[in-house]
Amino acid sequence: MDARRLATLRTIAETFAPPDARIDRLMFYAEQAVDGLSPGRNAEFNQLLDLLALPMRLGEGIRAKILHLLADSPVAKLRTGFATLKRLLLFLAYAESEPGSDNPTWARIGYPGPRGDRGADDVSLPYATGNSGDRIAADVVVIGSGAGGGVAASSFARAGKSVVVLEAGLAFDARSMGQREIGMRDTYLDSGLTASDDLGVAILAGATVGGGTTVNWCTSFRLPDRIASEWASEADLPNLPGELAPHYAHLEKELRLAPVAKHNANNAVLIDGAKALGVHADAQPRNAPPDCGDGCGYCGMGCAYAKKRSTARAFLPDVAATGGAIYARARAVKINIEGTRAKSVSVEQTVGPNDVRQFEVAANLVVVAGGSLRSPGILARSGVSCPALGQRLFVHPVSAIFPEFDREIDAFIGPMQSAYSDAYNYRSGNYGVKIEVAPVHPGLAANAIPWESREKHAAAMNALRRSAVVIALARDRDPGYIELDNEAQIRYHVSPFDGENLLEGILGAMDLAFAGGAVRISTLHNKPIFVERAQWNKARRDELGEQLRKIGIASNRQIFFSAHQMGTCSLGSDANMSVVDPTGKVWGYDNIIVADASLFPMASGVNPMLTIMAMAGRVAEQHGGTLERREPQAPEATEAVAEAAN
Ligand SMILES: Cc1cc2nc3c(=O)[nH]c(=O)nc-3n(C[C@H](O)[C@H](O)[C@H](O)COP(=O)(O)OP(=O)(O)OC[C@H]3O[C@@H](n4cnc5c(N)ncnc54)[C@H](O)[C@@H]3O)c2cc1C
Repeated sequence: MDARRLATLRTIAETFAPPDARIDRLMFYAEQAVDGLSPGRNAEFNQLLDLLALPMRLGEGIRAKILHLLADSPVAKLRTGFATLKRLLLFLAYAESEPGSDNPTWARIGYPGPRGDRGADDVSLPYATGNSGDRIAADVVVIGSGAGGGVAASSFARAGKSVVVLEAGLAFDARSMGQREIGMRDTYLDSGLTASDDLGVAILAGATVGGGTTVNWCTSFRLPDRIASEWASEADLPNLPGELAPHYAHLEKELRLAPVAKHNANNAVLIDGAKALGVHADAQPRNAPPDCGDGCGYCGMGCAYAKKRSTARAFLPDVAATGGAIYARARAVKINIEGTRAKSVSVEQTVGPNDVRQFEVAANLVVVAGGSLRSPGILARSGVSCPALGQRLFVHPVSAIFPEFDREIDAFIGPMQSAYSDAYNYRSGNYGVKIEVAPVHPGLAANAIPWESREKHAAAMNALRRSAVVIALARDRDPGYIELDNEAQIRYHVSPFDGENLLEGILGAMDLAFAGGAVRISTLHNKPIFVERAQWNKARRDELGEQLRKIGIASNRQIFFSAHQMGTCSLGSDANMSVVDPTGKVWGYDNIIVADASLFPMASGVNPMLTIMAMAGRVAEQHGGTLERREPQAPEATEAVAEAAN
């Protein structure tokens, strides 16, 4: 970034951030983040800085007013600009830190920062490094090591096949998980900055060994029967629910699913509220031990105690145990296809700052599991073209409220997502919202909390310890899509139908939070709406509903989140409507299969990890994988090695 733009960005940071923020350090990270943006986004960001260069030379009061005007501008692009700046700079203001130098804002807001202890690291995966020009041979090459890729790789390894896993993200063992939000730069897709093209939906997706399962919140649901039946008829796969059943059973054992022994205060709000209202709430199964997380709360930054059953812990060891290889920081650039057959995958592995190695992995079977946001691009770059590729992107848009209590909640401590309510679900057929809670650490909270002035924002952050975070997660009916160009832009807007469910979800979340003891609640609109408990009655609820409808769901008038991306290479029995056939094989190709969330024909309506794993296990089984462990074959005997040698 040139000096003039850097100066403008610094002035904007000084206008947004609280006085105790370390502007120099914030700017260090901000500059890196902007430089890391895709060329298109980088150009847009620079244009925004050029637009603000003159206004940012005015006095602080005027600058703040100008920025706030952008927040609620009728011009969508200006609201997007505000959202870009606010989210980046306020996240960094509260998240930047490093060992031995904690963020000074934490003392003010009472955030404890990382714990000093560490658990045992009983599984250390061996990682492989390629050499430029190598041609490595395997039976199966798996692109992506997340929920789907990890399970598929294990399934083939258990069947005795030689497996190579390519993971674009970095590798961390438990002891190197830093419990710092700034570490999201290294473990989340696009350094945590992914969003829909107009930033209307802030998107979280894991990008490290284990993918989303390394940083996710452990909630592990089966697909509800009513939605499984809908999928079966949508994809014209009547046997799908029955075929998934043994995979769920296998996964539940491997992931050691169990509810928590004790809810933290944030989850207890939901349970208590539902009890007081006489509506549904329950505990959910999690892939962590029941006593896990008492005093922790850092699953979103990777488990430092080696307890969460991520794919890196539960499934990738099968690859290592059967002589396979896992390559981290190894991006699959393209699949090399001859006719209808994939021959190999071209890989770029970053080994050091000036050491990027290019090699090929030849295999009989290529498994695409880069996640819904990346798998369609991998296929498109390889020459696969079909009308449904990249289409039908579902994201489970999430809206949140910040209920304040007269006691400490510490939503960032304890098992993070252990309770849910379906009290407001299924309001339009199989559509509605699931109410859950979220573990919000200061960076993410600062990013989400509306900004009207630095003083008001700092005051809201001062109440963080007394705030719960309740979310309404919509099963979206109306999908978006991914651009199949290099930038893989995410085109997604919350539709009026899904928006109406979210709006009812906000009201439902408020019912539960007030019944659970909240004294005041703030919405996440750019001009936040505050509601006091004493006012919460039917008339105020109706009035608020009207107000929310009037504001509507236009992008960047309020923040929506997504941690669940699904679809884009959907499974189906009609080649014109889907990307892969009922077995998971890409239509028209002999040996390319898809095994991740992109298979979903529709949104799952529940947190999707377990279903992604079950779908990947089912697809792998149809192509020679197995749930049972078999004796490994000698790699020399495999077809791929023989073929690669030719
Ligand atoms: C913060 C957070 C909390 C969540 N909480 C829950 C929860 O509690 N319960 C739940 O059910 N779900 C949860 N999810 C969602 C869940 O983790 C994801 O839906 C799931 O991991 C997606 O699985 P996947 O296999 O499709 O992709 P991912 O798990 O995202 O894995 C894809 C992997 O492929 C890699 N990749 C991409 N492109 C390439 C390439 N070209 N070459 C090599 N590698 C590539 C990526 O780096 C990534 O690691 C959460 C997600 C997040 C981010």
